[in-house]
Amino acid sequence: MASARPKFTLAALVLASMAAFALAGHFAATRFIHNQQAHHLDELTEVVLRRSEFAVDFAAASLDKLAGRGLATCDPGSLQAIRLHVYQRSAVKDVRLVNSDGSVICSAYSETLEFDKGWVERGDMLASRDSRLMLFRVEQFGGDALGVLRDIGNRKALVAILGVNASLFDIMPAELRAHGEVLLALNNGAQLGKFILDPDKALSHPVEFAKSSTRYPLRTVIRINRTVLSTWNTEAYWPAMAVALALGVLFGVLLSRTRRVEGPVADLDRALARGEFRPYFQPIFDLRTGRINGCEILARWLREDGTIVPPMNFIPLAESSGRIEAMTWQILCRALADLQPHLKADKEFKLSFNVVPKHLLSTGFVETLRSNVAAAKVSARQIVIEVTERDELDDLARAAAVVRELRDYGFRVAIDDVGVGHSGLSRLKGLGANTIKIDKFFVDTVTADASTTTIVEMLVALARDFHMTVVAEGVETEEQVCALISCGVEEGQGYLVAAPLPFTKFSELVASRRAAIAAAAPIDGAALVA
Ligand code: C2E
Ligand code: CA
Ligand code: CA
Repeated sequence: MASARPKFTLAALVLASMAAFALAGHFAATRFIHNQQAHHLDELTEVVLRRSEFAVDFAAASLDKLAGRGLATCDPGSLQAIRLHVYQRSAVKDVRLVNSDGSVICSAYSETLEFDKGWVERGDMLASRDSRLMLFRVEQFGGDALGVLRDIGNRKALVAILGVNASLFDIMPAELRAHGEVLLALNNGAQLGKFILDPDKALSHPVEFAKSSTRYPLRTVIRINRTVLSTWNTEAYWPAMAVALALGVLFGVLLSRTRRVEGPVADLDRALARGEFRPYFQPIFDLRTGRINGCEILARWLREDGTIVPPMNFIPLAESSGRIEAMTWQILCRALADLQPHLKADKEFKLSFNVVPKHLLSTGFVETLRSNVAAAKVSARQIVIEVTERDELDDLARAAAVVRELRDYGFRVAIDDVGVGHSGLSRLKGLGANTIKIDKFFVDTVTADASTTTIVEMLVALARDFHMTVVAEGVETEEQVCALISCGVEEGQGYLVAAPLPFTKFSELVASRRAAIAAAAPIDGAALVA
């Protein structure tokens, strides 16, 4: 379940991130839509205002034209000409000649005067910014109109009667028409035109958009039912949410990656806390008799989900992150507990374990080792500390002092990976170890390459001179066993006998081999190994 855990963590992160982005996306999309709606309705209000201004401009231009043609009179010919003019301009419903106080003198369509409900006095009219025009409401039966007055000299004026409703009708988007109203009013509040589909249906909590003209005393207002805005122009919502969710997934994955970059050390700590680092046992055997004389314990990380992580995938990180020491003790203590009966029963049986030089040189290493071994009721003589020669031992003198101390307590020390490391052969002597382990690199070629045979023979001779024993690593074939025996090597370790095994398997192997050796007469080791 340990690898289900990162998957779970990833899924949890992605879900959490999606939820956060969905929430943010919802708010962002809602806000965006709201802003879009507000912008749209604001523009519509502006359009209503521009149309109204344009209608006033249009009326003013008509009045200018009539005045320019000298038609500001009530004679039948002028009125006829004015009627033709009105006929050609749909927005203008009528043109009247009025006194300077605003009272009507005559009208192009005199019968329209009957539709008037009232007529404001000049004092109630509102001036345009340039003061050339006066605007006022013309209350009529069948709807209000806008009066636009233009003075002709000091005593008379022409008034155009504008119907404004038509220009307001088509402004509302179809979806909103039944849920809103459009108003045109004078700045004094006098309403000029209003579009509402159902006048009897009051708007509930309307949102209002209003605009005032800078040139004319006009004001337009659009009011919309707040509820209809939740469904109008919301097409952007789901695409925005989709983008937000996609960003959520992306962010979640990135976040989990980021966590993973800094996560392996935390993974190591969790594994240490759960005791997931376990020893695997690989036999070290007598090349001649095939007898298993001991074993090397090799670290495996048994994750919760059952996967087994090889040491090269975590030892370097454990070393660089300072977790190697705790990990080493965890593995050793477990191995000591497992092997204690074997070690007690066979005093010649040796347990080898790997220690990185940094750990060997760290304060308290010897004391901790002693107390762990003593606590397991195992003799120090049966414990071999393997120190690799791959990484240069930068403080050989100190290392030698530690080795001496270890040996004084009865421990044995092996130099691992001999032949491929940094130390020259003379340095091997300086360390004062008990054993050298010849690297698999030489074993691989010992049957084929004469120069390898020479090197192995040389190493064996050197070991003898320094009273050291020799173990060959990575022994896979009987030919290699024969070649190593003829070079003088005594012990071997390799897949030929067994790969590193979990304790129960290792224990079975040791027992069956003992039984086989006891049953058989002393025979050639290579044959027994096979
Ligand atoms: P090593 O100490 O040289 O261990 C021998 C390695 O060679 C082991 O690999 C073993 O499985 C492999 N091996 C043994 N016989 C054969 C063979 O016949 N053929 C082949 N192809 N390989 C063979 P493993 O267990 O993967 O360990 C690799 C290295 O990781 C070890 O090399 C050692 O340097 C390091 N290591 C393993 N466990 C520990 C530990 O507990 N502490 C420390 N500090 N290092 C460890
Ligand atoms: Ca080793
Ligand atoms: Ca080795």
